[in-house]
Amino acid sequence: MTFEDLGLSAEVLRAVNDAGYTQPTPIQEKAIPWVLQGRDVLGCAQTGTGKTASFTLPMIDILAQGRVRARMPRSLIMTPTRELAQQIAESFHTYGQHTPLSMALLIGGMSFNDQEKALDKGVDVLIATPGRLLDHFERGRVLLTDVRILVVDEADRMLDMGFIPDLERIASLLPQIRQTLLFSATMPPEIRRLAGKFLMNPKEVSV
Ligand code: AMP
Repeated sequence: MTFEDLGLSAEVLRAVNDAGYTQPTPIQEKAIPWVLQGRDVLGCAQTGTGKTASFTLPMIDILAQGRVRARMPRSLIMTPTRELAQQIAESFHTYGQHTPLSMALLIGGMSFNDQEKALDKGVDVLIATPGRLLDHFERGRVLLTDVRILVVDEADRMLDMGFIPDLERIASLLPQIRQTLLFSATMPPEIRRLAGKFLMNPKEVSV
């Protein structure tokens, strides 16, 4: 199977080509078509399988086709750690380079000021750790009412780090009508329960 077969747009295919990828990985083959169809996805995959591209590529595709009026975030990617958030941001830059989409990275340990400046300019995508996102929300600097795609990455690590209550609070700030993609390396009962709450009739994919 090729990336063309998955139904991605020309801008995204160009970026995939620039990245030097010749063939989709198994998680990409399984997840991308469902994401493009607007389905919720519960993905079971480890780091190193290409899972970041399996949600970032179709997300960029969907967002780049939408018409933007006000630049409020339309997609939110939640990750447990700053390092992971930074890696996803790098992937976003690579995969979205031929689109006009912009993003802000909202992570702890960095100045609020720079992140607020990025938010004030208006962004399409937020990549965030839970605590820092809630800090910005409480300061009144970010509104999540336009988010139509939520990604929860490494949900089992979120659980280990005690972030589930924060995640539930964040989910309560988002529109109920949205697309949700939840990825986890393992599927313990707590993650299944969370998936039951966050996802609607999801397609399950695993590698
Ligand atoms: P991830 O599992 O998302 O952390 O990705 C692991 C690594 O695989 C990253 O360095 C990606 O750049 C790379 N990668 C992702 N998809 C592909 C692909 N289809 N072909 C080759 N490398 C890839």
